[in-house]
Amino acid sequence: MSIKVENITKVYGEQKALHNVSFEIDKPEIVGFLGPNGAGKSTMMKILTTFINPTKGEAAVNGHDINTNAKLVQQSVGYLPEHNPLYLEQYVREYLDFNAKVYKVDKSRIEDVINLTGLAPEAHKKISQLSKGYRQRVGLANALLHNPDVLILDEPTTGLDPNQLVAIRDLIKSIGKEKTVFLSTHIMQEVEAMCDRVIIINKGEIVANKKLTELREGQEQIVIVEFDYRVEDAFLLKLPNAKSVKNTHDFIYEITFSTKDDMRSHVFDFAHDNELKILQLNQKNASLESMFRELTA
Ligand code: ADP
Ligand code: MG
Repeated sequence: MSIKVENITKVYGEQKALHNVSFEIDKPEIVGFLGPNGAGKSTMMKILTTFINPTKGEAAVNGHDINTNAKLVQQSVGYLPEHNPLYLEQYVREYLDFNAKVYKVDKSRIEDVINLTGLAPEAHKKISQLSKGYRQRVGLANALLHNPDVLILDEPTTGLDPNQLVAIRDLIKSIGKEKTVFLSTHIMQEVEAMCDRVIIINKGEIVANKKLTELREGQEQIVIVEFDYRVEDAFLLKLPNAKSVKNTHDFIYEITFSTKDDMRSHVFDFAHDNELKILQLNQKNASLESMFRELTA
């Protein structure tokens, strides 16, 4: 069992941040911890990495109890905190070297993690000279130094520009092939892009825990289509399985279909038969989006 959380509650003064939270992650997979700001994500991650204690409840990482075996927990887990406190005046290698000593790992690991995280071209620089994307790589390299089985990444892609975002997502996906990755985000698209499973938290409580494959098998889909001319909603509702139509902008329509069969070809034929031109045609996962909206409304 990689991570086991049983009835964790955390109260800060008057503020209840987590309420009876339970979940399990039992194999190497990438699990997204999704929730709006203030939901309790960072609090849960700080508890799992033994930075803070829970008010109540049990948790174990790699079989080690967080309440009684903090040292072994820390050896099993690599942690990238939300606001990773990097020492800006240090050089990349100097920073990793310092942490290698703290973790008591062999110096050879430094070059290993530099290569693993694609840091090599920037590794001679000071951390202050690096872009946000490369600073996140330094944080990931640091989390990987002691070769832990479990990685806990708090909002690893927040604040990255689109190119950095793609690169860091790819890096996390490749790490997730061998290790358990538990990452938090408040952005639903990050879950779709990286995760095998999603655990949704809202106001300190778990509201969903589902595999992405299950969500994709949902019985609903939304097709977004842009025509070159106006179409009556009633006309679009004649498409097979069409459930609702929303005209979101000029000639852009969001059609919800109650089927999992890909309906884009039907929309295409419809346009052709009615002498309309299609300017764009896309499909999105209705389940995750509507679930996240409903659960956190
Ligand atoms: P998230 O990471 O999902 O945005 P957090 O775990 O940071 O949420 O916070 C959960 C709740 O606990 C929020 O309401 C936050 O204001 C509160 N909180 C977090 N840390 C502290 C603290 N040290 N003292 C008091 N309240 C806190
Ligand atoms: Mg947070």
